[in-house]
Amino acid sequence: MRAVLVETRDLAPEVRHFVFAAPDVPELHFKPGQFVSFSEMLGGKKIIRPYSIASLPSGNRFELCLNRVPEGHFSPHLFAMKPGDSVEMTQPLGFFVIRNPQKPAIFVATGTGIAPFRSMAPGYLDHPEAKDLTLIFGVRYENSIYYGSEFEALAAKHSNFRFWPTLSRPDPSWPGRHGHVQLHLLEAIGDRRDLDVYICGMKAMVDDVRAILKEMGFDRKQIVFEKYD
Ligand SMILES: Cc1cc2nc3c(=O)[nH]c(=O)nc-3n(C[C@H](O)[C@H](O)[C@H](O)COP(=O)(O)OP(=O)(O)OC[C@H]3O[C@@H](n4cnc5c(N)ncnc54)[C@H](O)[C@@H]3O)c2cc1C
Repeated sequence: MRAVLVETRDLAPEVRHFVFAAPDVPELHFKPGQFVSFSEMLGGKKIIRPYSIASLPSGNRFELCLNRVPEGHFSPHLFAMKPGDSVEMTQPLGFFVIRNPQKPAIFVATGTGIAPFRSMAPGYLDHPEAKDLTLIFGVRYENSIYYGSEFEALAAKHSNFRFWPTLSRPDPSWPGRHGHVQLHLLEAIGDRRDLDVYICGMKAMVDDVRAILKEMGFDRKQIVFEKYD
């Protein structure tokens, strides 16, 4: 099926929010956390790239949060799209979804790894048996805390939700957390071992967080992850 670009908005340098429609279907069915794969013939080769859906199910519309890899094969093509342009896509797929909505959880994201959590967090918090949820979101600069005001609003609405942005290259005036997401894991987890941890972003961060969790005694089944590279 085709995905038609409806509109875009810049979130930060080289990071953009995309709204697409899938006019071949009345409803795009997916679970928060799943991705769609886009494909296109570029330079005589078929290129396929998956992208996490960053929105809740809503008719045939869906939203993505993408960063442009300047030398990349596919992302510059998406950044060059104009409203009305289209791209081939698959049905939503993937197993990076909420496993135990009645268990406390920690979401760990860096960069555009925040995308699936924008879809997963509201549903998790609206579950009648929802427990505590902490989102640790690592970016370099303050102007890259994409969707920050949305997560702040969610935290204001749900007392069981903590939103912890952390900057790896903060301005001296930044009053919040700094350093990599790994630094804040221990505080978020404390003595608890009854929670699930969901991790999304680049391989180096995901592998590092998984290693820390295993060292802390977490079972494989409690660690759910999506690697972007
Ligand atoms: C399940 C899944 C979901 C994904 N969801 C998203 C998403 O929501 N948003 C998003 O921006 N990307 C997402 N990606 C990554 C995406 O599929 C592409 O890999 C990315 O757009 C780069 O493609 P490219 O062809 O431009 O770069 P390529 O030519 O494939 O070059 C890849 C190189 O770019 C670098 N790079 C920088 N940023 C990224 C990045 N975000 N992802 C991967 N590589 C990167 C890496 O060093 C990597 O080696 C996802 C990947 C997977 C597997």
